[in-house]
Amino acid sequence: MEIRFLGVHNLESVDTKLVSLLIDGVLAIDAGSITTTLSFEEQQRIKSFLITHHHFDHIRDLATFGLANLDWSTKSIYSIQSVLDVITGSLLNGTLYPDMTQIPLPDNPSLKTCAIEEYKRADVDGYGVLALPMAHGIPTVGYEITDKEGKSVFYSGDTTNGISEPLERISPNLLVIETTLPDRMRDSAIEVKHLCPSLLAETLLEFKKAKGYIPPTVVVHINPVYEEEIGKEIQHASDKLDTEILLGYEGMKIVI
Ligand SMILES: [Zn+2]
Ligand SMILES: [Zn+2]
Repeated sequence: MEIRFLGVHNLESVDTKLVSLLIDGVLAIDAGSITTTLSFEEQQRIKSFLITHHHFDHIRDLATFGLANLDWSTKSIYSIQSVLDVITGSLLNGTLYPDMTQIPLPDNPSLKTCAIEEYKRADVDGYGVLALPMAHGIPTVGYEITDKEGKSVFYSGDTTNGISEPLERISPNLLVIETTLPDRMRDSAIEVKHLCPSLLAETLLEFKKAKGYIPPTVVVHINPVYEEEIGKEIQHASDKLDTEILLGYEGMKIVI
């Protein structure tokens, strides 16, 4: 399984892109930078999206992706029903952007939505997908994606601490998890439902207590304003826990 990190930030600039991962070139997770980082040919290879929650930095490029449907094939957007309702009701609703679940033809639209349920394993284009609830203040799921060889990655989407119960259900080869703010903003991080490096370290320790290991970990959803601080604190946590925790970057590729 190849995991390509298209965007690893929560703010966009010429140097930073919004969160999106691409699995084996065909399965996209979140859609913050799907069109800003991929060629049309690469966009056409995508068959489906897994969306964690409805905040703009995770769904924005669904609209521009749906408009650039050059091969007239229908791509699927998977998420929990409440997230799909916001996407169809507020983004692809025919006001700012066309309703791409109906065009170019109602029986052959650019995009279609597919609801999945938390805690229920689903098959998405040959991948095993398990959606688990995260702690972000609005309905949000993280995804474990398992390929045919049994390799798996877990991506948290946005979350704060308090996710040890759902994480105990998985044993990923790679963990991709958010860390938005630095440790001096720990109280704010808890308040706005994100992680900082010390909260991440506590989450990883809880996982180790339950599962006996800490998977190699990549940090995403970095606020670029605090990136240097977060980087130093992540390095410190990595040394302290004696485990590999890497700061993600745009263009990063990991094969598991
Ligand atoms: Zn969010
Ligand atoms: Zn976000």
